[in-house]
Amino acid sequence: MIAEEIKKIHALLPPGVELCAVSKFHPAEAVRQAYDAGQRIFGESRVQELLEKVKVLPGDIKWHFIGHLQTNKVRQLIGKVSLIESVDSERLLDLIDKESEKAGVVTRVLMQLHVAREETKFGFYPEELLEYFSNRKFENLNATHICGVMGMASNTEDMNRVREDFRLIAATKDRIMKIAPDLMGFDIVSMGMSGDWPLAVEEGANLVRIGTAIFGSRNY
Ligand SMILES: *Cc1c(COP(=O)(O)O)cnc(C)c1O
Repeated sequence: MIAEEIKKIHALLPPGVELCAVSKFHPAEAVRQAYDAGQRIFGESRVQELLEKVKVLPGDIKWHFIGHLQTNKVRQLIGKVSLIESVDSERLLDLIDKESEKAGVVTRVLMQLHVAREETKFGFYPEELLEYFSNRKFENLNATHICGVMGMASNTEDMNRVREDFRLIAATKDRIMKIAPDLMGFDIVSMGMSGDWPLAVEEGANLVRIGTAIFGSRNY
């Protein structure tokens, strides 16, 4: 089942669009099945769970952290992940930078955008992020590479609203590139989940994060 879904999604994704298989709350064995089907990028939302999976799964897996990252967990994560997709505050970014420098590694991150109409979601408002780049605060980073943006659409059946959210995420990334054209490797637009990823790809996603459609529903 898992292998079939992985192969199906790989076949549907246009060239240049990568799949992050969101394995949170699923056992290492499920990750292994997806790995054997050729999947290499996996997404986790809890630090402890990610670290446990890192220990028992192949070393060439690229782990993405996609959940809200508490500042007291940053140190444990540094050096273990290929990409932190969910940087949602300057404070967190500065801490990631400090810990990465201490550890002698460069950490790749995405800035999480808040565009959905829900109170509970984390992230920068588009204007906040534009201001961050206008003020060229990224120049203060020593050991962090900002590789792009991540976002989620509103949790609604209204596909016009979802499309608008994706459009705003992609447009914000384009505006940042105009504001700071010297940014290197600011390429990633991570958006789209099980229920809405085809729409996200239409609107410019080059990284999609799919969990349920691959692994089934989660038992929280
Ligand atoms: C859980 C999660 C996903 C995957 O959602 P599905 O609907 O299961 O595909 C994607 N992105 C983030 C940030 C998540 O937390």
